[in-house]
This record gives sequence, C-alpha cells and structure tokens, in this order.
Amino acid sequence: MSIIASNFKTNHTRKSTALFINEVNEYLKKENILSEVYVFPTATSLDFFETEANFIVGTQNAYATASGSFTGEIGTVQLDEFEIKTILIGHSERRHILGETQDLIAQKYEFYKNLGYKIIYCIGEPLEVKNQGIEKTLEYIYEQFVGIDTNYENLILAYEPVWAIGTGVTATNDDIKNVHNAIKEKINKPLLYGGSVKVENVREICQIPNVDGALIGTASWKVEDFIQIIENTK
Ligand code: 13P
Repeated sequence: MSIIASNFKTNHTRKSTALFINEVNEYLKKENILSEVYVFPTATSLDFFETEANFIVGTQNAYATASGSFTGEIGTVQLDEFEIKTILIGHSERRHILGETQDLIAQKYEFYKNLGYKIIYCIGEPLEVKNQGIEKTLEYIYEQFVGIDTNYENLILAYEPVWAIGTGVTATNDDIKNVHNAIKEKINKPLLYGGSVKVENVREICQIPNVDGALIGTASWKVEDFIQIIENTK
C-alpha cells in the first residue's frame, strides 16, 4: 500500500480546491483504493472537507501556537475549525526560501507532536551537497533530524532532494534507493520520495524497496493527473 500526497504549494483557489477534493473523493469512493491519500491545499482552502477514511486533508504550514501575535501565520485555533490534524513540516521551500531554521522546525515539530498531529516531515539535500557524494548527503540529511523525535508514532518522512523539486529532474532509482535504505536503517518510519514525481514514473519509484509512497507537487495539481497517479500505484 502506498501513501500518495499532493502538495498544492501556492496554487489553486478555494473553488478549484473544492472541485479537486470532491473529485478525488468520488474516485476513492468508486474504486477500491488501498493507498492512503493526502492533499495539502493552501491555508485559505482548509475548509472542512468530509473525505474518505483513507483520504486526509492537511496543512502545508502552521506556527507552533494556538493563537497570538504571529503576523501571517495560522495556529491550532484556526486548524481546529476545519478539524485539520495533519501538517507538513520541514519542506525545503520553507527551509530555503522562507528561511526556516532547524530550531524553528524542531519547535513546530515538538508542538504538533504533543498535540498528536500526523506529521509529514521533509528532508533533502541541495545540489552542491549531492555533488559531494552519498556520505556528505547523508550527513546533511541527518542534521535535519536535530531536535526531531523520530520515534513519534504519527510520523511519516519524505525524502525530497532540493535539486529534484520542481525541476523535472527526478533522482535516479539508485539515488533514491541509496538514501532511502540509509534513512530506513536508522529510522523505521514510512518514507516517501518527492521531487518531479509524475504519472509516468510514480509506479516505478513506488516499487523501489523502502519507498512507501510519493509526495508530489507540480504533477498533482491537475485532478485527473493526481487520480491517475493514485491509479498507477494501487
Ligand atoms: P515537484 O513534484 O513539483 O517536484 O515538487 C515536489 C514537492 O516539493 C512536494 O512537496
């Protein structure tokens, strides 16, 4: 059984998100799908969606707070309105574009862990680190676990090499296999791969040992493609 997750990033409106989620829901109802499916829409579209039991809507981000003075952020008071209990933490765009430090990420992780949220925790190295070889890559990735309780029962990991995100350059099967094997040896949690996963390659990627599913950006934003991705991994 695979875990298939769509990260909308800064795409879709409230209207198109509702259509997307309803369509995925209808598909999951009709077909006998065993995959666990996640969708992470923008914060403005976290409406209460009644989804299938194996279909979960989560938030791409939230601050480590219930409420308070954190301009531009949302907390659990807002998430509770929509019964959101799933969060992405450590995504490379938040680390590298929004400047989230490992300290801040660990703080968020601890906060949402203590509330029992399902956490999809992202790790992955930039190109200059990849180019220094597998040892350096793993060293870099292990730094991203500082302050993170990896024994947490509701933890899913996602390995997303920065150089493969949104570039159309997927990691090779060997790259994925090497990193996934090494991480799994240390941390026995579901481990997704992300980075230019698409309809055409999702089946093969999900068949690599120690790949438990995929976290998908660009190729998941059209609902028919996302459904095809789920179909290809069932
Ligand atoms: P792409 O699928 O667009 O490469 O994005 C991957 C990603 O960042 C998912 O979180």
